[in-house]
Parts: sequence; structure tokens; C-alpha cells
Amino acid sequence: MSAENQINLFDLSDSGAAVAAPKVDPDLIPTSATIPIPPGTYHSMEEMKAHCDRCFRCDLGHNRTHAVVGEGNVHAQIMLVGEGPGQTEDETGRPFVGRSGELLDKILASVKLTRERDVFICNVVKCRPPENRTPTTDEAEACKGYLLEQIRMIDPKIILLTGATALKGLLGIKQGITKVRGQWIERDGRFYMPIFHPAYLLRNPSREQGSPKWLMWQDIQAVRKKLDEIQNG
Ligand code: SF4
Repeated sequence: MSAENQINLFDLSDSGAAVAAPKVDPDLIPTSATIPIPPGTYHSMEEMKAHCDRCFRCDLGHNRTHAVVGEGNVHAQIMLVGEGPGQTEDETGRPFVGRSGELLDKILASVKLTRERDVFICNVVKCRPPENRTPTTDEAEACKGYLLEQIRMIDPKIILLTGATALKGLLGIKQGITKVRGQWIERDGRFYMPIFHPAYLLRNPSREQGSPKWLMWQDIQAVRKKLDEIQNG
């Protein structure tokens, strides 16, 4: 076998296992939302964060202190996608900190999950919207390539969509979260579940049957059950 043929044995481009190399100059990605983010652009979360920290694909880049790319286990089976960073997240560069983050940790702990070991947490947009407003459709679209790369790299089996923005931004479903929360949506071999945002639960503290907190308790138990099925399956 010639040396060239031997080298070709390592060319996985036709196998389906490898992701095609990007055709755009990756350094242009943070400069404009018109530049696509092809699958396979990033090989690590750090590499992607370096782009997000200097990204101006949308105007949110002008407000940020830190891009909040995400944190947790990059090999986790569960990914949790929120809306966007708030003030404390922008200041610290970490997602879901403050009271919402504390409540999220408690919700996870109630079924023996931790954000360090079992979950990767991120947002639809990586930079803070002013006054914590909802990200616009254009902002979510501009940032979506990063999110899709995160999903590709982590390859989670379960994706929890906290709030309507995550549901619309990732799956294009424009329904209110109260209508669809707790339902599994299967796409491309992954199980998506819309759930309430912890901030919403803080505003609705009742624990009575049928209340948002009670419903969240049902949902997180369903998530635990699904994870057990996947891990034991
Ligand atoms: S929100 Fe996303 S697309 Fe917009 S500037 Fe930040 S990293 Fe770039």
C-alpha cells in the first residue's frame, strides 16, 4: 500500500462519524451574524468562549461584562438551557447564580443531581440583555450557532428548556410554557422537556397541588426517571 493510501485510511470524511471541516474563516464568526457557524467549528468550550467574549454578532455584545457560555459537566447526559444572563451572571461569567441558581440547585438535588456532575447549564444568548429583557428573535438567532455547537460537543440525551424563550429559540415552538411543560418532545434522538424557569417559581412560592412549584416537582422526577432509563437501558 502506498504511503498516500495509508494516510487515506485515517480520512474519516466519508464515514459519517466525522464532522465536516468548516468552510468559513472561523475568526470571522464573532464579527457578524451573516457568517455561519458550521458544525465542527469548535473543539472545546474554552475555544468557543474565546469567540463569545469578543462577539458582536448581535448588539448584546456591546452590553456585556462577561459572555456567559455555560458551566457544568461537558460529558453530562442532561443539558439545561435558560434564556440569557442576568446582572450577577454578567458580572461573574457564570450561569444561574443568585436566587434562581440556588433554587435550581435545590431542584436538582431533590432527585440527587448536581450541576457539577450531572448537568451542563447554558443559555439561549450568551450576553446579558439590557434590563433583563427577553432576547429578541434576531438575537437568539445570531447566537444559536454557538448553542448548537454546545449541543453537538456535549451530546446530551436530555435537554431541559427553562422557559418560553428556550423553547422557541431551540425548537421553534411558540407555545406558552404552562401548556407544554412536563411533556417530552423527541427530536434527533434527544429528549427535550420544557420546564418552568426557576425565576418564575420564585415569584410563585405556593407549594399546593397544581401550583408551579408542585408541577416542577413532578417534572424533575420525570427527568430523573428518564435519565435512569437511559443509563440502565
Ligand atoms: S449574545 Fe451571542 S451572538 Fe450576541 S454578541 Fe453575545 S455571544 Fe454574540
